Amino acid sequence: MFDSNKTTKLLFACLDWRLHPAIENYFATKDVACDMCITAGSLKGLIDPATQDFFLKQIETSRNLHHCREAILTMHMDCGAYGGSAAFSGPEEEVSCYKEELRRAKEIIGGRFPELAVKTWLIGLDGKNGEWEISPKEINLD
Ligand SMILES: [Zn+2]
Repeated sequence: MFDSNKTTKLLFACLDWRLHPAIENYFATKDVACDMCITAGSLKGLIDPATQDFFLKQIETSRNLHHCREAILTMHMDCGAYGGSAAFSGPEEEVSCYKEELRRAKEIIGGRFPELAVKTWLIGLDGKNGEWEISPKEINLD
């Protein structure tokens, strides 16, 4: 059942249907299997001290079961859990809010799992003719 020829990564993503299945198809490849932690606002629950333990437990489980080596942290534009794009004065403010969330989440995970690689991504969303396209962009926070 467990395919040891693949590297397992744990993908954090929002439950927004506009992202799926494109987001898992983007990150899961021939050589990479993705465990998935899919919740509203993606990293919101990990950052919230009230629910943080639950999310850290998901990482622990992915590591124990599948030897997960990397956490892929994603936030996406127009996220309803953050009030959507309308909650921001413009794309710049929205992007900087999500970058800050990515930074916080990376710090939390790094504090608990220092040996785990953590990559951060911002997912753009474009609607065309009733179809949604994602445009993932890796964010370097260093
Ligand atoms: Zn969302």
